[in-house]
Amino acid sequence: MSDEYLSRGYLTTEELKEIVEIPSEERLKKKPVAVPECPQEIPCTPCAEICPVGAISMPTPNDRPIVDYEKCIGCSLCVQICPGLAFFMIHYRGEVARITMPHELLPIPKRGDEVVLLNRRGEEVGVGKVVLVIPKEKSVGDTPVVTVEVPLNLAWEVRAIRVKEAGE
Ligand code: SF4
Ligand code: SF4
Repeated sequence: MSDEYLSRGYLTTEELKEIVEIPSEERLKKKPVAVPECPQEIPCTPCAEICPVGAISMPTPNDRPIVDYEKCIGCSLCVQICPGLAFFMIHYRGEVARITMPHELLPIPKRGDEVVLLNRRGEEVGVGKVVLVIPKEKSVGDTPVVTVEVPLNLAWEVRAIRVKEAGE
């Protein structure tokens, strides 16, 4: 993969597919599964260290993390601990997908809130509903984590949210 993403500041979905194998549709329907969007080969290992089932392999600290999707139990600890905000969980549920993502911007949404969905470029692509919030105090990495229900066709696009302003 070229290193254009460094100056651009985000990965495209196509670039993501060059660095990780996307879980099968069958696996995505079974339960939440963690997918690292971590292209840089830098010495960083918290995700692999915290995984309770040893699902994240990284032969050397400089290697990109690889998840064994069959081992992953969807606990979200890797999402909570990653300092690069690079881990996400995806779960297909019929016509929607649930995306679990780090959310460091304030305000933190509440469960049930309708929020604006953003793609990797930060562009608004629709609206979704918050179904779970792990606040900073309960996150192992001090990073709040939210799970948002999005239209299924946006499962590989939505990677951030914006809380709606009053009256929006
Ligand atoms: S979600 Fe939990 S089980 Fe799955 S890779 Fe992350 S830390 Fe491991
Ligand atoms: S903790 Fe995050 S930044 Fe570090 S290797 Fe794991 S996914 Fe990449």
